Amino acid sequence: MQTRTWLLVVAIASAAANAQPRTVVYEGARLIIGDASPPIESGAFIVQNGHITAIGPRGSIHAPAGAARIDLTGKTVMPALNNIHLHIGYEGFVSWGVENHTPENVLDHLEREAFYGAGTAMTMGDQPLAFAIRFQQDQLAGKFPPAARFFFAAGMAPPGGGPDALLIQGTTPLHAVHEVSTPAEAVQAVREIAGLKVKQVKFWVDNRDNARGGMKKMPPEVYSAIIQEAHQHGMIVHAHATNLQDQKGVVQAGVDVLVHTVMAEKVDDEFLAILKDKKPYWAPVMGLGDRSELCDGLNPFIEQVLPDSVVEDIKAGRTWLPSSPCAAPANAQFARREENLKYNFPKYLAAGARIVLSTDAGVSAKYAYGFAEHHEMRMYANLGMAPAQIIVAATSRPTEVLRIQDTGMLAKGKRADFLVLNANPLDNIRNAREIDAVYLYGAKLDRETLRAKFKQAVVDRDALAAKSKKDYVPHPPSSRKAAE
Ligand SMILES: [Zn+2]
Repeated sequence: MQTRTWLLVVAIASAAANAQPRTVVYEGARLIIGDASPPIESGAFIVQNGHITAIGPRGSIHAPAGAARIDLTGKTVMPALNNIHLHIGYEGFVSWGVENHTPENVLDHLEREAFYGAGTAMTMGDQPLAFAIRFQQDQLAGKFPPAARFFFAAGMAPPGGGPDALLIQGTTPLHAVHEVSTPAEAVQAVREIAGLKVKQVKFWVDNRDNARGGMKKMPPEVYSAIIQEAHQHGMIVHAHATNLQDQKGVVQAGVDVLVHTVMAEKVDDEFLAILKDKKPYWAPVMGLGDRSELCDGLNPFIEQVLPDSVVEDIKAGRTWLPSSPCAAPANAQFARREENLKYNFPKYLAAGARIVLSTDAGVSAKYAYGFAEHHEMRMYANLGMAPAQIIVAATSRPTEVLRIQDTGMLAKGKRADFLVLNANPLDNIRNAREIDAVYLYGAKLDRETLRAKFKQAVVDRDALAAKSKKDYVPHPPSSRKAAE
């Protein structure tokens, strides 16, 4: 009941903010529903007040008098993408760090997501909660221009553990991660998070030994306590675990979303039996370890949103999270990773892991907001998934994790969050890159203006941060002091 009331408030606020007042009929396109049902080859749908009010084969839909008509003959329409795992706020493309963490920069990242077709994006365990709650409320109240909807998970890790060597430079000064050593501390932290009505929590198991030396892993009794307590409060729990032993442990302990794919070894029968039993959602987040697509030659799809200097930096390996230059030859470790992926990925799926679109974008410009989704989907295809199944993983299934029912499919009653494509992604998922238009809440996104903004070489981050600190209280005083 509480959720429904909240959604209603959201709908009213957003409708006031950016929905188109008139009724529009979109007709003639192939319609991909988003739930793996067959597409409607020549379809029509009506959008009113940001929502789809009718959908079906062309001719079966009767538009109200005075409705505007948009002919989409030859196009394909699919639901907007929904990304359940990325890292928002710290990337500045010509800089990376806590100084970039402002509402304006968070909005910039959400605009980039929307530019490439994402309707929602969930940042994972990396935000100070007071900031994230305020930002989400402000977005719902219509205070920001159209962008992907902001979702977030609270973060938990052992002291000094958690995010990778770069991300932790942002999360530590902002006290974004709850540090816990014992089951009792874990329960206490979950209760605090639940008290803020935050419904998602992520924990990191890794000890990050190589980078930081001798850190302690989160032991099973601590993460089991997190999972049990979080489930008491109706929360969704995401577990970052990268090796086979830890993945077995967290799935066995009942985590809702398994994050990462075992890359360094092959999965075994014991793990597959655990997956079959538990059937967790799975955020494989694989593409960050890939070579940049910019290494394969001209790539207007990616280059259109990056300053030229950033394109050159990526090719040369000058990224904040260390990466190889394009000129570096593939090494034996990379070949082994590829071999293990080819072996492991289909086995996760066959065992019942419910794959959900997720990218880990936000720690490297080479794999950033929006275009990372399209790379990740191409990987799914290369590893054997059919386009129709990839579309389910990228549109409707993420809403199960986000716990929202208002988007993710082309269906009566859903928000009009959709992509108009010049080619059919059911033939080849790469065709999802052929974006003619993005509509969010029934309004067409001004992609040209966004593209020009993204392409600008240098943003004056100092001025941005100064303005933000004046107008906004993004962080509690103690963490703000540490950040400065
Ligand atoms: Zn991540």
